[in-house]
Amino acid sequence: MQIFYNIAAYKAWHAKLKSKHASIGFVATMGALHQGHLSLIASANQENECSVCSIYVNPTQFNDSGDYEKYPRILDDDIAALEKQNCDVLFAPESGEMYPANEEEAPRSKLNLGVLAEVMEGEFRPGHFDGVVTIVEKLFRIIQPQRAYFGEKDYQQLAVIRKMNQEFGLPIEIIGCPTIRENDGLAMSSRNLLLSSAERTEASAIYRLLVKSKEQLKNLEVQQIKQRLIDDINRFETLDVEYIEIADAQTLKPIDSWDSAESAVCCVAVLSGNVRLIDNIMLYN
Ligand code: AMP
Repeated sequence: MQIFYNIAAYKAWHAKLKSKHASIGFVATMGALHQGHLSLIASANQENECSVCSIYVNPTQFNDSGDYEKYPRILDDDIAALEKQNCDVLFAPESGEMYPANEEEAPRSKLNLGVLAEVMEGEFRPGHFDGVVTIVEKLFRIIQPQRAYFGEKDYQQLAVIRKMNQEFGLPIEIIGCPTIRENDGLAMSSRNLLLSSAERTEASAIYRLLVKSKEQLKNLEVQQIKQRLIDDINRFETLDVEYIEIADAQTLKPIDSWDSAESAVCCVAVLSGNVRLIDNIMLYN
């Protein structure tokens, strides 16, 4: 695997690749890689001549500086995992590369994400999607992939990136990939590393209860499903629901009756101690 720590070195490599007309499948990550990330690399490898992974803990998408500081950083382990997964290129830029001191403030209002960025993560993590869009656009313009792979675990982020890609008219195919889970159902996440063993055990209830909600669809109204899910999760000592939303799976507009959307997704954010976990389940489509 080739590793580039700055943009110029990547661009020199890319210029050579371009003349061979080889396609690039790109996976953007913040590192502390797990099987969820590696499944995206596997898809990138399968569908392209070259796979490129980026590892960069993007400061502008954190609305809580403590969360940013404690975010796990284990680059050596990540490199080993990527080698094993046959990733072709790692782009691991220094912070100064992505946000040069002399760069003009990005005109963040240029993209109107509308309701997509106002609900759920947008409401509870103000500025988060501005940061995500800023860094993903920068990475897309540097990496210049033909395809980019994102996890459905971050359902709203996937919708935001699809919208950004469309609005900017970038020639990139965005591919959503299924959520990879631990054996007990907990969605894999770099933040799981920060859970105590009691927190880790109880965290598996989140997905279990999402599945239970889906099974109850026919018997309950939207509001009842949401309330039961909140109560069931909050019953666990280490879990505290931040939000639960049931939304149109296309527009992400919250719904209050089943017949108001052709497809619906239930998204949750739960605090386990001071670790924030998100997950979702497609209720019907
Ligand atoms: P992150 O490093 O958390 O920014 O995630 C990088 C990419 O991996 C994003 O597209 C995530 O949606 C995706 N991802 C994270 N966790 C999982 C998972 N458990 N299954 C599938 N994809 C995931």
